[in-house]
Amino acid sequence: MPVRATKRGDARTPLSGDYDVLICGASFAGLTVARELAGSGANVLVIDRYEIGERQTSACAAPTEWLEKLGLGPSIRQTFHDLLIHRPRREFGSEPKDHRWTLPWSFSTFDYRQLCELLAEQGEAEFETAKVEELVPAQDGDGQLLTVRTDRGDLRAPIVIDALGWRRVLSTGTAIQPPNATLSRGLEVHPPISEHAPDLELWLDPKYIGPGYSWAFPAKDEVRIGVGSFDPALDVKQPTLELTADEGVPAKGWQGNYIPHKLRNATEGSVFFVGDSAGHCLPTTAEGIRPALYFGLALGRELRAVVEGRQTREQALERYAAFHDEHRFAYDWLLRVQKIVGVANPRPLMDSALQLFRSQRFVSWSFNHYLDICPPAFIDVPEPAAAEPAVAPVAPVPA
Ligand SMILES: Cc1cc2nc3c(=O)[nH]c(=O)nc-3n(C[C@H](O)[C@H](O)[C@H](O)COP(=O)(O)OP(=O)(O)OC[C@H]3O[C@@H](n4cnc5c(N)ncnc54)[C@H](O)[C@@H]3O)c2cc1C
Repeated sequence: MPVRATKRGDARTPLSGDYDVLICGASFAGLTVARELAGSGANVLVIDRYEIGERQTSACAAPTEWLEKLGLGPSIRQTFHDLLIHRPRREFGSEPKDHRWTLPWSFSTFDYRQLCELLAEQGEAEFETAKVEELVPAQDGDGQLLTVRTDRGDLRAPIVIDALGWRRVLSTGTAIQPPNATLSRGLEVHPPISEHAPDLELWLDPKYIGPGYSWAFPAKDEVRIGVGSFDPALDVKQPTLELTADEGVPAKGWQGNYIPHKLRNATEGSVFFVGDSAGHCLPTTAEGIRPALYFGLALGRELRAVVEGRQTREQALERYAAFHDEHRFAYDWLLRVQKIVGVANPRPLMDSALQLFRSQRFVSWSFNHYLDICPPAFIDVPEPAAAEPAVAPVAPVPA
């Protein structure tokens, strides 16, 4: 378990104030937005219920190029050029069917705390620990300011971002409640083992889970091993215990969460949503770090144009929502694949489908298309020209 470093008891002093930008959530998405606002002169506050990097939210594997280009290379623990897929034996006594795919680009596992600290250093935001409770309904006289209620007090800003993960805490819509929500779920253990097989491994094996998959991601001095279900109602603890027993590793260091698998709206009223709160995690693979970084960059660039007076908040809301919507086709398509995988996994149909991946050309083609949904080249894209302000931009809050 991580050390609880967040302020408790007397140290949990009241917190209030007005900021130019309030970023709720200090993980991949929130810290990337803050990074893009560095040097803009805006008064930015990032809040999270935990200290930066205190509570790991995933198995922490992402395309290496994304990590390196963002200056996060020092957090990398292990790099993989192949993906090893395990299928079950069809008949008693037959060999398991393993597939080794050589990827056209590599994945790396990284240290969560170190990556978050590196990202936070690139931003120049203030940081406080506070639990976000809700968006307070606007009152007469608030003007453009939005109020966010936390367990330490109310915070106000004209620009508010929900990067709080799957719960979408600042939404005023119906609460997202598993198991009746478009969510997957994942659970894993992190035993401290350095001599585990050196591969990035996936199991498409209904012995552990039918609609979903299992994984083992080595990270130098530990292995992250777990089970993900496309159905939030299915148990993932027992299959994780089974997988760790089969792999001969101790079931130590549990972490798990729900994962959205359907794109949601990027804005609601005047609030911006990014990362899991906007449903940016990719269906089928549940790869959510790269999209959180990608949409975090896109949103940060739009907001920078606002605080620098190059566009209004309303224009940023419109432009960011349009950018997000451009990705619906790819997300809907991946959701269809997820449904097919869920149905085919327990059947020989899956083995037939996997035959396609015996062709290296097909592996490269499909993985390059997959990377293109949130491509690393986006990091180098010059900031898009902001819209011409139709009205005066949001005035920064006086310090
Ligand atoms: C078991 C598991 C393994 C995974 N492995 C991978 C992987 O290897 N690669 C990959 O790409 N994706 C993986 N994912 C998905 C990935 O973790 C998410 O998509 C990603 O973390 C989303 O980033 P985010 O910044 O939007 O949200 P999160 O990383 O969930 O961060 C949300 C932040 O908000 C804070 N927060 C939440 N509620 C409150 C509140 N009320 N008040 C204050 N703060 C709050 C949290 O403390 C946290 O810091 C995995 C998911 C799971 C469950």
